[in-house]
Amino acid sequence: QVKHNGKNNYAKFDQHMVHFQQDKRKMEKVLRDALVNQNFVLVFQPQVYARTKRFYGVEVLLRLRTENGTILTPDQFIPIAEAAGLIVPIGAWVIRAACEQGMAWIREGFDPIKISINISGLQLKSIQFLSNVKAILEETGMNPANLTFEITESTIIDQSYAVLNVIEEIRKLGISVAIDDFGISYSSLSVLKNFPIEILKIDKSFVREMVTDEKGYKIVNAIINIAKSLDMKIVAEGVEDSTQLELLDELGCQFIQGYYISRPINEIEIERFLVNRTVMQQRYLIETKKHK
Ligand code: C2E
Ligand code: MG
Ligand code: MG
Ligand code: MG
Repeated sequence: QVKHNGKNNYAKFDQHMVHFQQDKRKMEKVLRDALVNQNFVLVFQPQVYARTKRFYGVEVLLRLRTENGTILTPDQFIPIAEAAGLIVPIGAWVIRAACEQGMAWIREGFDPIKISINISGLQLKSIQFLSNVKAILEETGMNPANLTFEITESTIIDQSYAVLNVIEEIRKLGISVAIDDFGISYSSLSVLKNFPIEILKIDKSFVREMVTDEKGYKIVNAIINIAKSLDMKIVAEGVEDSTQLELLDELGCQFIQGYYISRPINEIEIERFLVNRTVMQQRYLIETKKHK
């Protein structure tokens, strides 16, 4: 009986793997085609000053538009892009498109804003990465001082020696480096010690817990204090309500990003923020009155 079940389970498992492999191959093709057919889309999530709610910049987030019009989020295709070696060209497309958009906003008369781009570890390790970035800066005219590359903590740890060198080169180009999803891996503190990183992004899981959980609150407080003592800028991600925002501001977190301010939006919607950079302040005042 036991053996029989075991066999059935294997059969089921194999079936599952076959489907998984087929789906994976299908997705690889979708990704390859998307590069040619321009099916990748960027959305932008505002980052604001915690104290004044004034606009600071955007994080660039990648989306994939499929043939039937569905929009896929990165967790649905980035791992496959990485496994298929496609993250390098896709990542280069993201950097170029983000710089072009940044320059388009400037041409329309808006002041330059900070643009933060997620970079995969595999991209960093690829030999053409730095020369690609240099070429994009030259060709688009983007000022590197307005760019930040976000690298996840786990990337940095997994590939520490190779990555350290690339991070130093990125900094030499005048681009800032942020550590993304800070606090969720096992050697967060050694990353801070060993890498020349200017910006720390507190992972949204900590932001979520800081309101409901006393220990969670103390941990966020400690992270902010460490970052401050190292002269790092601090961005909290995943801020979803005014309580979180106020606590973070009180603790000295300078920048916030999250659904409470805005979901990721398209380049036209971003212009609404650029037209009146204090728009967030008005929104904030309305919100806090409602809550009181
Ligand atoms: P991330 O860099 O940590 O980006 C933040 C993610 O949290 C985004 O998900 C964003 O939409 C979501 N988010 C923002 N505010 C809130 C909030 O208030 N609450 C909650 N629950 N979520 C919020 P998204 O766009 O699905 O991206 C997921 C991850 O995919 C990103 O995490 C980043 O690691 C990766 N990613 C996105 N774009 C790119 C890209 O161009 N290249 C690479 N290599 N990775 C990317
Ligand atoms: Mg990020
Ligand atoms: Mg993050
Ligand atoms: Mg994240």
